[in-house]
Amino acid sequence: MADETRALRVVVAGAAGRMGTTTVQALALDPDFEIVCAVDRAHAGESLRAVAGPKAPDIPIREKFGVSVDETKPDVLIDFTTHASAVEHAASALRRGVAPVIGATGLTQHDIAELKLLSEETGVPGIYVPNFAIGAVLMMRFAEMAARWLPDVEILEMHHDRKLDAPSGTAILTADLIAESRKCVPTPPVTQNLKVEGARGGVYKDIPIHSVRLPGLVAHQAVLFGGKGELLTIRHDSLDRSSFMEGVKIALRNVRKLQGFVVGLDKILFKS
Ligand code: NAD
Repeated sequence: MADETRALRVVVAGAAGRMGTTTVQALALDPDFEIVCAVDRAHAGESLRAVAGPKAPDIPIREKFGVSVDETKPDVLIDFTTHASAVEHAASALRRGVAPVIGATGLTQHDIAELKLLSEETGVPGIYVPNFAIGAVLMMRFAEMAARWLPDVEILEMHHDRKLDAPSGTAILTADLIAESRKCVPTPPVTQNLKVEGARGGVYKDIPIHSVRLPGLVAHQAVLFGGKGELLTIRHDSLDRSSFMEGVKIALRNVRKLQGFVVGLDKILFKS
């Protein structure tokens, strides 16, 4: 177990990507963290400082995750690569005693079940956080509360056009929370006479989810509840990537105190 009085030793995977460089810049300014290792298959061999800016440590970006972790001995991993790579990295981290914080989205129920099992076997905790924005975590919590009384709901999620997965991890987690929380069966949606395939969205746990992808968007979600003569809309907007950084730091500071592998920042924010 790491010494709690020194800075947390962090490996950043996907360090040269959009979220990775923002994370490097945020952690580099905070004395609680020391970035000891940066992994990215793009820019491998280049200095992290040259890629992520002057405040970043002058360490090389490495290509191979496992061997880099063995050499640099971090306490925690923050991963902003892709769904498939993040699952591999998380498993590799758990086997090496490094607690993973997975920020890459698109993990399936099967991926999560495998990581939970591995976390149990190794005794190393971890967390998958589909959305690090504190406001987004609150949006999900409020949606969970509303669903107890307003079972008819649809989710509209909107992201930049480079996002690979759909629907977003946040939309799926929101739908999971709503489905667990609602006490009444929702009104079955009318789907006859669809003039355009998919016009009513993709249905997950009886909840239509509509995914919009456009340049100019960052990460936005509205959860729309309909009742008799009333509407409730709970909306969250991430306006730039800095919105995720407080949540990233909270997850990194707390991941080693968790029991097992868990999903969602609410497991840390609302744990008491
Ligand atoms: P990006 O394409 O800019 O960056 C991904 C980086 O990962 C790239 O530099 C790529 O070279 C690297 N990479 C991919 N596979 C790798 C591997 N096997 N080994 C080493 N490096 C590898 O993407 P982005 O916009 O930074 O998003 C990254 C992920 O973060 C996406 O899944 C996105 O949905 C997610 N995301 C999550 C949150 C959240 O709050 N959890 C917020 C925004 C984005």
